[in-house]
Amino acid sequence: MSRLMTLVENGEPSAISSIQELFPYTGKAVTVGITGPPGAGKSTLVNQLAKEFRRRDKTVGIIAVDPSSPFTQGAILGDRVRMQELIGDPEIFVRSMASRGAMGGLSDTTIDVIALLDAFGKDIILVETVGVGQDEVEVMRAVQTVIVVGIPGSGDAIQALKAGILEIANIYVVNKADREGADQAVSYLKQLLSLEPKKAKSEWRTPVLKTVALAGEGVPELTNAIEKHHAYLTSTGKGQEEEAARIKHQVMTLAQRELYSRLSRSKRIKEVLAEKVEAILKRETDPYSSAKELADLAVEAESPVYSG
Ligand code: GDP
Repeated sequence: MSRLMTLVENGEPSAISSIQELFPYTGKAVTVGITGPPGAGKSTLVNQLAKEFRRRDKTVGIIAVDPSSPFTQGAILGDRVRMQELIGDPEIFVRSMASRGAMGGLSDTTIDVIALLDAFGKDIILVETVGVGQDEVEVMRAVQTVIVVGIPGSGDAIQALKAGILEIANIYVVNKADREGADQAVSYLKQLLSLEPKKAKSEWRTPVLKTVALAGEGVPELTNAIEKHHAYLTSTGKGQEEEAARIKHQVMTLAQRELYSRLSRSKRIKEVLAEKVEAILKRETDPYSSAKELADLAVEAESPVYSG
């Protein structure tokens, strides 16, 4: 599994055929994303969650995603060291990931690594991201349950809002509840969440939980909340609806990439593109019309263009 993950990260074509072969064995795992600002205690919390799920007889896969840079070996090593205490339990598999892969974005690579863990029978897959940018939001779209972790004070709740991250939370956690201001943070968040458009009684309401990850306090309750959200997704059919949306997005992304690659390989397209570039340079035409013409050409010519 570890070697397959490396192939996936490196964008090796052989990884794709492995994913294709393993795909029928996927779709069983519960996937959980944990995001929030650096230092909020995500790694500590993920550690504790993994242990709690093990106590509940579940096997666990952990993916620590760092989109900030492909060169943050330090941070990755830090994660590895902190997660070291979990290793030794063969049912917990930890993988750090910073590489974008050869082709797609980090979220595409994450989807494939999740698929591998799933196919290899991990019951619970915890995906932890290191920051709170657009990349992280994108990665969080790949999982079923999103946990956003904040801490008391420091205006983190507002920052999370700005990054558009509160909207994607299914569970909100105020960690470091041993610090002053935890209760205020909880009531502040509850208030923010109550401003959301009115929901039907049957709809999921984002709970706000308090944890002290260092001491494991609140972790069983958080685990219960994850299980409850999973039960909600299953019983309402919402889970399947969301999975369909994820698959649709993934297939369209892959198709787009496939088209791009076919276009770039076609001799005819290359020739026309060179002509268009010349014409654009001379301001005889513009990039928009040229792109349209290339697309038309590709569609009209069908396979002969592609085989170029
Ligand atoms: P991450 O960057 O979000 O993954 O945060 P870490 O898990 O690395 O935690 C950052 C720091 O906060 C570490 O020094 C942890 O030991 C500490 N920490 C984590 N959880 C708690 C907590 O509940 N209370 C307190 N006081 N410190 C915590």
